[in-house]
Amino acid sequence: MAPTAAAPLKGPRARQIQNYACHCLALKSYLQQPGDGRAHSHIPAGDMVWAVVMGRILRVTSFLRLEWLVHSPARPGLGVKAPFGDDALAYCTERMDPETTRLALAAALRQAKRNKAFENSRFIGLAVDGTGAGRTYKEPCSLCDPVIDAQGVVHGSLHHFVMISIVGTGLTLPVDVEPYGAGDSEYAAAQRLLARTVAHLGPRFADYLVGDSEYSTAPFLHATEAAGLPVVARVKENLPTLAAAVRARFDGQPPQAVFQEGDDRVELWDADDFAPWETLRWPTVRVLRYRQHKRDGTVIQAEWLTNFPIQKLGSRSLYRLAKSRWEIENQGFNDGKNRYGMEHICHHAPNSILIVWLLTLLAMVIERLYRLRYLHRGDHGVYSAMELVMYLWLSLMSRSPPDTS
Ligand SMILES: [Zn+2]
Repeated sequence: MAPTAAAPLKGPRARQIQNYACHCLALKSYLQQPGDGRAHSHIPAGDMVWAVVMGRILRVTSFLRLEWLVHSPARPGLGVKAPFGDDALAYCTERMDPETTRLALAAALRQAKRNKAFENSRFIGLAVDGTGAGRTYKEPCSLCDPVIDAQGVVHGSLHHFVMISIVGTGLTLPVDVEPYGAGDSEYAAAQRLLARTVAHLGPRFADYLVGDSEYSTAPFLHATEAAGLPVVARVKENLPTLAAAVRARFDGQPPQAVFQEGDDRVELWDADDFAPWETLRWPTVRVLRYRQHKRDGTVIQAEWLTNFPIQKLGSRSLYRLAKSRWEIENQGFNDGKNRYGMEHICHHAPNSILIVWLLTLLAMVIERLYRLRYLHRGDHGVYSAMELVMYLWLSLMSRSPPDTS
């Protein structure tokens, strides 16, 4: 029977997501004490943090629209106790300690692993990559990086950050971000982020790290080795000697493996005895080449280096680990920007920008685990991200059952 205005809607609700986050993802104490840096306030920081997280899930991505939402009759259904204004959100996020939210994200992900969210995967990967977001033409903040064209003319500023995400498990879950402003670099930010991630998640949480060619440098490869993570990184012309050796070896050879993946035919070449370049302290370098033939005739070819021994990881498995890097682009940055508001600056102050990015990550983690792992166990089937959003809005607008929690 179709639900009517008089009958409460059954199914997922914002309050159920709140209970799930508190009790199944170990976030209860975080939502009570999320690192509030304000000296005096009668509005609990946890209420505002939860409103931002639910706002991201509901695709309400500006502080002004959140103010509207928490002043609407939907507020109790969201699990937010009292209304507040956009200025209170700006003031609070400018003063929150980001480390508290980063630790909460790591705790939720460790709990998800204990809850067997990744149990069907042989390897848990971490992918790292940088991006820019939050284009602005306002007075620059300390994270603003000017956008300069070929003529030297400035066209506003962008805010850059490096993200690290769990990949390769069928469930892409972002872990942390590290911003970098003018004078800093993606490469330096990624090294800080990697060290913090391993400290927060624990040394045995993940099985490998995957990154694009910016990360196939000796210092970064040594840093991942020191962190106890095997690495898979793209080889391009940034490593001319290795790239030339790979061409000399593989170009005249037939592929060692050929298989069909969906509509595509994939050819693989794999050898583990390439010489390291002079600054790399590895005895040898293993390189995998794949050539993917699409049905429309296009051919995609790429080379990846690794320190995974061939005995431990076959060529097809290594191909999958290399391909898992795309998850940080697609389910990380693209979803983060197009669905969860990562592109939008709510309040142009560096700490507030960072806190909102971290809360966006937390919203993505909670939404995906709730939708794909928790709800999946019920009799609803799997909701798509958009179906869940529609359902939550409908439930917020329908008559709520008495609040018994
Ligand atoms: Zn700025």
